[in-house]
Amino acid sequence: MTKWIYRFGDGTAEGRTDMRNLLGGKGAGLAEMSNLGLPVPPGFTITTEVCSYFYSHGKTYPDELREEVERALAEIEHSFGARFGDPENPLLVSVRSGARVSMPGMMDTVLNLGLNDRVVEGLALRSRDERFAYDSYRRFIQMYGQVVLGIENHFEELIENHKLDSGVSLDTELSADDWRTLVAGFKDLVAEELGRPFPEDPQEQLWGAIGAVFGSWMNPRAVTYRRLHDIPADWGTAVNIQAMVFGNMGGDCATGVAFTRNPSTGTNELYGEYLVNAQGEDVVAGIRTPQHLTVAGKQASRSALPAMEDVMPEVLTELYQIRRMLEDHYRDMQDIEFTVQRGKLWMLQTRSGKRTAQAALKIAVALVEEGVITREEAVRRIEPASLDQLLHPTLDPKAKTAVLTRGLPASPGAASGKVVFSAEDAESRASRGEAVILVRVETSPDDIHGMNAARGILTIRGGMTSHAAVVARGMGRPCVAGAGDLRVDLANRTLTARNAVVEAGEIITIDGSTGEVMLGAVPTIQPELSGDFATLMDWADAIRRMRVRANAETVVDARMARRFGAEGIGLSRTEHMFFQADRIGAMRRVIMAEDETGRRAGLAELLPIQREDFAEIFRIMNGFPVTIRLLDPPLHEFLPKTEEEFAELERLTGKDVTAIRHRAVALHEVNPMLGHRGCRLGITYPEIYEMQAAAIFEAAIVVTKETGEAVEPEIMVPLIATRKEFDILKEIIDRVGRKVMEEAGVTIPYLLGTMIELPRAALRAGEIAEAAEFFSFGTNDLTQTVFGLSRDDAASFSGVYQRLGIFEHDPFVTLDAEGVGEMVSLAVERGRAARPGLKLGICGEHGGDPTSIRFCQAIGLDYVSCSPYRVPIARLAAAQAVLAGETRDATA
Ligand code: PEP
Ligand code: MG
Repeated sequence: MTKWIYRFGDGTAEGRTDMRNLLGGKGAGLAEMSNLGLPVPPGFTITTEVCSYFYSHGKTYPDELREEVERALAEIEHSFGARFGDPENPLLVSVRSGARVSMPGMMDTVLNLGLNDRVVEGLALRSRDERFAYDSYRRFIQMYGQVVLGIENHFEELIENHKLDSGVSLDTELSADDWRTLVAGFKDLVAEELGRPFPEDPQEQLWGAIGAVFGSWMNPRAVTYRRLHDIPADWGTAVNIQAMVFGNMGGDCATGVAFTRNPSTGTNELYGEYLVNAQGEDVVAGIRTPQHLTVAGKQASRSALPAMEDVMPEVLTELYQIRRMLEDHYRDMQDIEFTVQRGKLWMLQTRSGKRTAQAALKIAVALVEEGVITREEAVRRIEPASLDQLLHPTLDPKAKTAVLTRGLPASPGAASGKVVFSAEDAESRASRGEAVILVRVETSPDDIHGMNAARGILTIRGGMTSHAAVVARGMGRPCVAGAGDLRVDLANRTLTARNAVVEAGEIITIDGSTGEVMLGAVPTIQPELSGDFATLMDWADAIRRMRVRANAETVVDARMARRFGAEGIGLSRTEHMFFQADRIGAMRRVIMAEDETGRRAGLAELLPIQREDFAEIFRIMNGFPVTIRLLDPPLHEFLPKTEEEFAELERLTGKDVTAIRHRAVALHEVNPMLGHRGCRLGITYPEIYEMQAAAIFEAAIVVTKETGEAVEPEIMVPLIATRKEFDILKEIIDRVGRKVMEEAGVTIPYLLGTMIELPRAALRAGEIAEAAEFFSFGTNDLTQTVFGLSRDDAASFSGVYQRLGIFEHDPFVTLDAEGVGEMVSLAVERGRAARPGLKLGICGEHGGDPTSIRFCQAIGLDYVSCSPYRVPIARLAAAQAVLAGETRDATA
């Protein structure tokens, strides 16, 4: 029989940390903390399997569930010494969601459940605090009303009106009687909206809340969050039901959240916030400004509010002990939640803490140095894509800046953009390619799409653990939170600082590493790639088997590629060199020439330019391999597009515009443009490839002479469909090589290979490999051609598939064993069978995608090549591919 619920608390638990798929992250953490003997209020977890059952059985539960819940509840009552629904000695419970991975604020929670008109009186008596009892009751009605009964939040309006009537401005100034009056008002509101009274029966309340939490798995913001984070819908959420402990029973009570290390920088320090006399979500909701746990934290942020270390020193000491225990146990930084009820500390959550890429690196390297984890483990823990956050420019410290104000440095990195005040604006402007900074008083889960679209996030209220801060760190967006000096005026769409007014659409810059908010766009500088980054990359390099190269043809890109650790160039697209202003004219004259003689004259002009381009790349790559691809696109791409360009070409060639237009039409290749281009163009006009080959050999000779080290170019022919095409071009290139080398009296070792980017070439890889010395998989064209698409189709194709959810991954991003990947692995097999030492690489966009890199490793490629910015990502992913292979071998 399936076990639907798992109990925890009182130093024991039925679950464990490795049961997170079944219990969700929160449930697994609560179970594990109970096993460790930490003070956890007793409770139980309804498993994610119930969620799956719920959705596959018309939103109903398994038959045995009701009975299991009753029994588990009885155990909480027993262990806590209180009874659910008993006015004499009431037990209240919390009902919380908890999926396999944390989805901050996306799903629903109900606190203080079990209160009704009679129970609240009992709670007042037992707690000897009437105000607390009625405050808890109104919070319950408010939360339950919104979450379970779906009533719009007019509750806050009632509170505001009541405060106006009573002449007070703060919630804390309201008395027990005020709350009692408000409770009555709340219940009237519910009855009016719902057409029936607020449920008084605690059992009815409980099942209502369970249903609402399961239901919230499918709410739109949770669905959006899952889409953004690649979380499958069928994982489901668990529901955690737990005895309530109260942080809002007076001055010796508190609620807080903490990270066992700084989640922004990774520094080894307890890092968190708390609020005295507050409940549950108050800290993260950003409604009151939370206070620091430690005096050091308070001083660092120049806060005037007392730290927990000042007011509850014993609790802080206990927290330090728990921090040690949890880090030792989980061997990782933890994100914890706790409540202090009348001086006693209760743990409500532990989970692996979300962190910035910078913090992830620092923590991983520190844990290796502390002897807690191995280098392999450290390499495994860094999300390759997150490195992107570290590779982009930071603010130039020498730049003059107009600082508007300073908030909390909630998520590092700098961003400039136009001020927008709503998630909708952020999304619509970003979709038009504008950089925006989303400015909100505080963010809520409904803002998630706007936060994703924005370059950075600025909030007026809320702390380092506010929703905005946590979500921004998870997304890798810079964030400044709690910039309390700023005022947002939504009606006039302005942001006011002490000394300036900024209108919507004006540009500001935020620095999430310092908390500064500045007027205008601030210049940036390249980041340092030393320290923890370099250490971890060294470890990754020692593990990986595949080489990592870059796709680059300009000097700037080639230098960048080396800085990021590229071990050569896997694709230099020579046509990009022809588009520059000093060459396009010569190229157009080649195209417009009447005959071969005319073409050769134009090409002779291009030769020295091209030779210097190649020489410069060889110099920068300093002995690393460089793959140069001969001309690829159809000729019409080089012809004029604007009237002025036509006129200019008329002047240059002496041909009239009509003749030029005719030529353009004659050359025009229709999408997908695979006909007269690449190697086929090279066969029709051999003089083009002859010039390029000569430039490559001559450049190699120049640099070999300069450095005394042999340069070994790899010459690559594009768009081969047949062995015959390759043979014709090989004859030409080899002949040019012999001639250039003879004339110079220097021998240049070189490889001649081909791209595999058409299905026929992949299928005929065996015979092509008899002639070609290397293959580079051009998976951009190969994906298009395997699916039978034109270039223009590709984007809409990806969009359609994403909507339909037919592929787990976008085939234009991720190469896997199906379809395109199958074509690649087949070509690998056939190619290597014909030529065992065949050098194999990939230079399509997939070469920079971590999942694809794992696939490339599995099928035995020698290297991957990607854009310079992705090189560090690929280095790490290639190391992880080795580690993943080892685990697979070990478990096979
Ligand atoms: C490819 O087709 O994958 C490739 C690298 O070539 P290009 O993107 O230049 O067509
Ligand atoms: Mg291509």
